[in-house]
Amino acid sequence: MSSKRGYILVLSSPSGAGKSTLARQLLQDDGLPTPKLSVSVTTRQRRPSEIDGTHYHFIDEVSFLQRRDQGALLEWAEVHGNFYGTPREPVERALSQGHIMLFDIDWQGTEQVRAAMPEDTVTVFVLPPSFDELRSRIIRRAEDKPDVIEKRLENARDEMTHWRDYDYVITNTDLGEAYEQLRAIYVAETVRRDRQPGLEDFVGELISAD
Ligand code: 5GP
Repeated sequence: MSSKRGYILVLSSPSGAGKSTLARQLLQDDGLPTPKLSVSVTTRQRRPSEIDGTHYHFIDEVSFLQRRDQGALLEWAEVHGNFYGTPREPVERALSQGHIMLFDIDWQGTEQVRAAMPEDTVTVFVLPPSFDELRSRIIRRAEDKPDVIEKRLENARDEMTHWRDYDYVITNTDLGEAYEQLRAIYVAETVRRDRQPGLEDFVGELISAD
């Protein structure tokens, strides 16, 4: 039977809801077809723990705007006063090769990706168990300065107002359980009828076999 078509799995959440941990678990899960992580470009300052080219491509505002205006970004948004965007070419290449692309982007970017590629986009929103927990996770991370933390909390509230726009919503109370739910979505979406173009011939052969 011929191979399946890839798709884009978008993960969004307020910062600190555990989205990056969930994404990492998907990337390290040996029992799954490994997704490819989309590495965004951003004008935000690199955090000490981050590696250029792995977590983000850190670029200046002039080159960001240049790329955006040349149409090289599939989507882009301004978040917490910085620009973020998804390079278009790696996504198109990966999808044409049947890979699943994992996006960690905000609600504004999600809207653009869904509008551009509705058939290929699956969206998941991750909620924290409570606001207190979200606040302490953001503070615990502590790689950001206090004024940045305030901005992130404010942005978290705004991000959460968009939960209705997503196909799936996971509340991350227990990480193990949240991951099982994400994994189930990931697998189920690979066997959607329209992602299996080879079925037409395969079922035809099944039906006509003696
Ligand atoms: P952080 O600065 O904490 O890495 O990311 C801040 C927010 O920007 C997160 O909600 C993250 O999902 C979002 N983000 C990261 N990359 C992109 C991107 O390429 N496009 C959009 N629209 N949002 C992004």
